[in-house]
Amino acid sequence: MLTTLTARLIAATSLIAISSAAMAAEVNVYSSRHYDSDDALYEEFTKQTGITVNRIEGKADELIARLEAEGDNSPADVLITVDAGRMARAEEAGVLQAYDSDVVDNAVPSHLRHPDDLWFGVSQRARIIFYDKERVENPPRTYEALADPEYKGQICIRSSSNVYNQSLLASIIEADGADAAKEWAQGVVDNMARAPQGGDTDQLRGLVSGECDIAVANHYYFLRGFDSDVEGLSAKIDSIGWVWPNQSGRGAHLNLTAAAMAKSSPNPEEALALLEFLTGEYAQYHFANQNNEYPAVPGVGLDADTARLGFFVPDTSTPTASFSANAKQAQEIFNAVNWQ
Ligand code: FE
Repeated sequence: MLTTLTARLIAATSLIAISSAAMAAEVNVYSSRHYDSDDALYEEFTKQTGITVNRIEGKADELIARLEAEGDNSPADVLITVDAGRMARAEEAGVLQAYDSDVVDNAVPSHLRHPDDLWFGVSQRARIIFYDKERVENPPRTYEALADPEYKGQICIRSSSNVYNQSLLASIIEADGADAAKEWAQGVVDNMARAPQGGDTDQLRGLVSGECDIAVANHYYFLRGFDSDVEGLSAKIDSIGWVWPNQSGRGAHLNLTAAAMAKSSPNPEEALALLEFLTGEYAQYHFANQNNEYPAVPGVGLDADTARLGFFVPDTSTPTASFSANAKQAQEIFNAVNWQ
């Protein structure tokens, strides 16, 4: 009898040991951002907290569809996307839940957060104006000026299906109103040097090849041309100038790499720990600088490569959440003016 009891006790004790091993702290991240250098950041998080990070990478829309399909059984704890517009889709799909964290809300300025804490910005990317220094004497100084007839046949910008452009137009809707935004979009279409094609790097290559005089691109694609040997760009990168737009007005349009808590997070405490870690100084510095992005948290430094484009006034008056709120209207305007 005693032996049986002891045996049961031993069995019970080892069961506890097994289950606590199986429940070792972990957090599952669905991420549309995939840079090898992020590994070191997640390793640092594990070192500090003992929480293992499992990453599943994919395109944002695929990850959101996967979250939807998995529903309540989804293993996802955290979602990371590289555009606030994508977070709008996640919100619409109902796959997010509000995080509850004073740490995050105190660190990240309110215009870079969802009003109900469904997501927040981890790093910022600017969409700005580039130009050929020899051919363009008087580059556009504002986004609005891109529609000026003075620049007819000179502008390269990618297609309207691109979420970066959707967010840019959404911000113009917010700042100038829908009617003015539509006129603007029409003006830009009229000024295009060619039908939209390729990604942001291709717009910059167009400056080098001479097809375009003025191009719109996210700032880090240009900086990559200094960091590494980008075909069709790096060799002649010194011929390209840049403009921080709207510097005497609302400031430059910045989008976000954003993080959120997944609706059915099975590890909400660990998820919160990771979200808070991402707003800390160490993570802010590394997460932003390794892609030449700007930190979301004020006061965090830049490395020399990221600082190359100098000081600028960011648009802090147009909430990032309006990019998602105006996304549909932006698409309607793009269709109406035939922006391919
Ligand atoms: Fe990008």
